Amino acid sequence: MSHLSALRERVSSEVKEGEPLAKHTTFKIGGAAEYFFEAKNADDAVRAVRVAGELGIPLFLFGGGSNMLVSDRGVTGLVIKMANRGFVIEGNVITAEAGAPTGLVSMRASEAGLTGFEWAVGVPGTVGGAIRGNAGAYGGEMKDSVISVRAYKDGQVVTLRNADCGFGYRDSAFKRNAGWFVLSATLELKLAADAEASKAQLRKNLLDRKEKQPVEFSTAGCMFTNWRPERPEQLAGMRKWFDLDKDEKVPLTSQGTIPAGWIIDRAQLKGTKVGHVQVSEKHGNFFVSDGQAKADDVVALTAVLKTRIRNMTDGNVQLQEEVEYVGF
Ligand SMILES: Cc1cc2nc3c(=O)[nH]c(=O)nc-3n(C[C@H](O)[C@H](O)[C@H](O)COP(=O)(O)OP(=O)(O)OC[C@H]3O[C@@H](n4cnc5c(N)ncnc54)[C@H](O)[C@@H]3O)c2cc1C
Repeated sequence: MSHLSALRERVSSEVKEGEPLAKHTTFKIGGAAEYFFEAKNADDAVRAVRVAGELGIPLFLFGGGSNMLVSDRGVTGLVIKMANRGFVIEGNVITAEAGAPTGLVSMRASEAGLTGFEWAVGVPGTVGGAIRGNAGAYGGEMKDSVISVRAYKDGQVVTLRNADCGFGYRDSAFKRNAGWFVLSATLELKLAADAEASKAQLRKNLLDRKEKQPVEFSTAGCMFTNWRPERPEQLAGMRKWFDLDKDEKVPLTSQGTIPAGWIIDRAQLKGTKVGHVQVSEKHGNFFVSDGQAKADDVVALTAVLKTRIRNMTDGNVQLQEEVEYVGF
């Protein structure tokens, strides 16, 4: 029996062949999935993961496709899209399926009189993807709200507490363990003392994103993680490398990192172009596609930025991709 027939028989008759992944990513880049399945509930996802394992087929699972770059050659094996989009708000607790849209959960939470998740409005993608990358903005992070995660972990469905998830800056145990997947999560927020203030915060964050990010283009958000200086002289080095005015401060995030967008801006690399992809003029850490970009353009532009910045900073600043490379 072919793999396709086996998947259709044992997972679902809806398993597709040759599905273009460009239409499932915010970058709108990438080749086709050999086999593709949209899991509408956690049981379907678990079954698909198990069957792929039993058949010895490579597996890739994703959510909103807003933090990944799919190779032009596509992805071999079974690609599962988490399309379990439900979530329930009870008191100050939210139970969200992995495929629930993060930004929508943020809006509904605020409307329900809760606070603490306003930072997530405008973050594309799903709760599962946000937990896996410990997404964050405006001083908030996923890990601040997660109570527990129902997960597929090395063959078993288990409940992990926040402390078991190994959260770090844009990091979690799900990122470090290929066989761990988020199925659903329980989030705890606070009851807002002033519900109007929470709604105003949402509007402010959305406006700020519109002003600072090229939201009108195809993009995968921040290409690079913010850079963490290891030694005090590296902070001082910033002034020399980028020839800063004496009044200009080097920005430090609350995590002690320097925003990659600021580094790219000061390195005067905004607007740099390879093929059909360009460093946004609006935000140095966003690459934007004109709609015809290839993944190879993105890879080449990434290499240009990393090399130029490393050379400019005497080998000190080595940017690392935040965006996940898939099928390379
Ligand atoms: C315009 C724009 C703005 C953005 N702003 C922010 C921001 O402010 N802060 C921020 O942190 N990010 C931001 N991002 C990046 C991205 O939206 C987030 O990282 C988001 O949380 C990714 O979720 P996703 O479902 O789209 O993940 P995907 O892109 O679908 O997947 C990313 C990775 O997560 C894995 N994954 C997805 N779902 C699961 C799951 N259920 N279980 C295990 N692994 C899974 C995938 O295998 C893949 O490796 C932005 C992106 C864009 C395009």
